[in-house]
Amino acid sequence: MRKSNRTGTSGVAARMDVEHLFQFNCAPDVPCFTECCRDITIVLTPYDVLRLKNALGMDSDIFLDRYTIIIPKEKLLIPMVVLKMNEDDKRCPFVSEKGCTVYADRPWPCRMYPLDMKDDGTFSLITDSSRCKGLKENSKNRISTWLIEQGVPMYDEMNHLFSQVTSPLQAQELDIDNPNIYQMTFMSLYNLDKFRNFVFKSTFLDRFDIDTVAIEKLKRSDVELLKFAFDWIKFGIFGQKTFQVKESAIPKGNPVE
Ligand code: SF4
Ligand code: SF4
Repeated sequence: MRKSNRTGTSGVAARMDVEHLFQFNCAPDVPCFTECCRDITIVLTPYDVLRLKNALGMDSDIFLDRYTIIIPKEKLLIPMVVLKMNEDDKRCPFVSEKGCTVYADRPWPCRMYPLDMKDDGTFSLITDSSRCKGLKENSKNRISTWLIEQGVPMYDEMNHLFSQVTSPLQAQELDIDNPNIYQMTFMSLYNLDKFRNFVFKSTFLDRFDIDTVAIEKLKRSDVELLKFAFDWIKFGIFGQKTFQVKESAIPKGNPVE
């Protein structure tokens, strides 16, 4: 898990590639079991939110309200969405004595811990064995295999698609003073159940040419809906031709390509 104030370097390995072996095992009998699930900053991606709200059987609106803190970033269209720790003991709301109650759907940083991935694709340890006793366990893991076991590839795929939306937005200082654009962007990325209503319960499908197979996929799959939302942002914010306006929706005398 990412923790802003946990950057100790004692015993921390240098950069490792995917074929590197590292010594680690986390199990209920480690003396620090669940200790790393408190007082941490876990930044959630749209795919993290999708997995968690579905694991909890909860509407995305309720999940965001109950379990997240939304931190706006000046001049950036997309705020930071952080998992809210318990107010009293600072523990993650999903941790129990037996471990993580949303383990199969835990966020990306929890899957990666105690590794972190660098921009150049290498890895490093973000803690050491004085804190994470699992690093003393006699179990060797090849990073490539371990990542698959942790279910990281699907998260990487979705986070790559998300980065195609966030990177251009972060690279430029946006001069947008229309709050509706902020709301639309946030809803599309993070509030997927509300975005579904926008697609299926507004005039959206009357205005845009979406083929019937794609519509059926959107109805069945939240992952497809999130990919669709990424394309919607690319269309609405960057003007990419990811959507085609229906001819019948084009006002006469005002042609749209
Ligand atoms: S989501 Fe699970 S693994 Fe992550 S901090 Fe919470 S309890 Fe721990
Ligand atoms: S600190 Fe390390 S060994 Fe301890 S519970 Fe967390 S991941 Fe497991």
